[in-house]
Amino acid sequence: MSSNEQNNETPKAQIREGTNLKDFCDNLGVRAKDLINALRKEGLEVGVNQDITQEIAGLITKISGVAIEITSVEDEIKRLAASDPDELVSRPPVVTIMGHVDHGKTTLLDAIRESNIVNKESGGITQHIGAYRLDRKGHSITFIDTPGHEAFTRLRARGAKTTDIVILVVAADDGVMPQTKEAINHAKAAGVPILVAINKIDMAGADPDKAKQQLSKEGLLVEDWGGDVVSVDVSAKEKTNLDDLLEMVGLVNEMLELKGNPNVPAQGVVLEARLDAQKGPLATVIIQQGTLHPGDVFISGTHFGKAKALFDEHGKTLKEAGLSMPVEIMGFSEVPQAGDLFQVVSDLESAKRIASFRLSNLKKDTPLQKDAPLTLDQLFKSIEGGGTKELRLIIKGDVHGSVDTLNDILPNLSTDQVIIKIIHSATGNITERDIVLASASHAIILGYNIKPQQNILDLAKKEQVEIRTYDVIYQLMDDIKKAMVGLLDPVIKEIYLGRAQIKRVFHIPRAGEVAGCLVSDGKITRNADVRLIRGEEVIYEGRISSLKHLKNNVTEVKKDYECGIGLDRFKGIQEGDIIEAYTTEKVAPESL
Ligand code: GDP
Repeated sequence: MSSNEQNNETPKAQIREGTNLKDFCDNLGVRAKDLINALRKEGLEVGVNQDITQEIAGLITKISGVAIEITSVEDEIKRLAASDPDELVSRPPVVTIMGHVDHGKTTLLDAIRESNIVNKESGGITQHIGAYRLDRKGHSITFIDTPGHEAFTRLRARGAKTTDIVILVVAADDGVMPQTKEAINHAKAAGVPILVAINKIDMAGADPDKAKQQLSKEGLLVEDWGGDVVSVDVSAKEKTNLDDLLEMVGLVNEMLELKGNPNVPAQGVVLEARLDAQKGPLATVIIQQGTLHPGDVFISGTHFGKAKALFDEHGKTLKEAGLSMPVEIMGFSEVPQAGDLFQVVSDLESAKRIASFRLSNLKKDTPLQKDAPLTLDQLFKSIEGGGTKELRLIIKGDVHGSVDTLNDILPNLSTDQVIIKIIHSATGNITERDIVLASASHAIILGYNIKPQQNILDLAKKEQVEIRTYDVIYQLMDDIKKAMVGLLDPVIKEIYLGRAQIKRVFHIPRAGEVAGCLVSDGKITRNADVRLIRGEEVIYEGRISSLKHLKNNVTEVKKDYECGIGLDRFKGIQEGDIIEAYTTEKVAPESL
């Protein structure tokens, strides 16, 4: 028998993340007590409610010879969804509009929405929830409502794929511009098909052919140019050819044959999240598998909750949310992060366990790297070392407006040396989750118009995460700019050491003036900074030039001992003066 065959015979067991010892034993038909005893012999003291971590799984394998694989809820839903091909149904496409600034992305999104919104008759006010859905000739299309590359890339960076088709908007009067190229690269990197919309054809200087020719140079050959990329000439402003554009979305979609299983526990991706004063944390999720219902218990990243209510983009409550639908969910325990996966699980107890399992893994798997910039001060030091650095930021603010503004302007401060990358931004106060993320990704947290709670500050300190809070945007920008060019002045924090009372003043030839003192509090050290205090007044600030105890040079004199102190370049000590000693420590300015 070859060793390979032997390997194949190794018994295997799969358990889901967040399974505790009791459930594991029940499933396998072994007594929990026996396993606990066996683990104890291996030096591990655990109870029946203990989650099975990778470490425990390894020990169980060692004891029993059963290879244990911890699977994610995501894997489980994926497996379930694919298990019965008969249950798969076509799902609507999710479309993102990308392109150069001012080429008309927002206008196009609005124009499409206005002419096609679902439930127009419901009279609901359209709200920004991150995506909207439209029905056209019985087919739905979901549009991601945040045009541009930032959201697309941010979601993708977190491993979330939400977009099925990219509409690349190119203004006919301007042609291919830097962000057009960037959009092409992003879509290609994500393997998402591109549909071109040549916009602003109503403009006097419009030259759609020139734009198409430029696109061909970027490797995007539209049909007129002998390629297979679909392209439609439109005017978002005049609402010209929008129907043709949607027709083409339908066509590209048919080729993609997108499918999902509506009958498994719902799974999706968080598109946007925010804190609502009345409703609490709200998140818009695009459903990718299954069907979500109010009352469903879910897990999202390291958060969990119970869907108290589901809303569409008109604020209308929904009884269910199906495949590719954007749905705003109320009932999160905390504001989740864009890009987090969202999955329905059977009950609150397992949701809690999975959340704590993920949180402990997140903390363990991401030890702090020594060379990673963690504070603005360290950032500068690392820039001095050469090369391009990335300053990763997490932005939290009181209102959407300010967070959006910072999202727009901060990345533009990037230079050849430092690239500013916002890895997460949201409204609401700084949460434990932000700290974990900052620690995991070596990011700095910027808070705008918010005051972090003490427990969060404590956690930040423990995790060595820098939090900076501001209430003026330009000050925030200023600090970031200064850090990038290395001008940030560190704040000097004073640490009190002790006091000495001057009993007599001696004049010693060559040595000069020496104060005969009694240390009345703390200690005086040779290297300390000192100030000479007379009454209320500080007479001198400087350093000690000599410190003696019984004629010997010493490094330190403690409370209740006498000593002789000489002050560096100072004359005029008087009896009754007080010498206060302190040291200083550099701390990152304005942090905490
Ligand atoms: P975005 O930065 O790509 O989202 O661009 P916007 O949608 O904000 O549009 C930029 C400017 O172009 C605005 O002043 C729009 O009114 C204008 N615009 C957008 N689409 C058209 C169009 O089809 N024709 C004309 N003439 N102007 C347009």
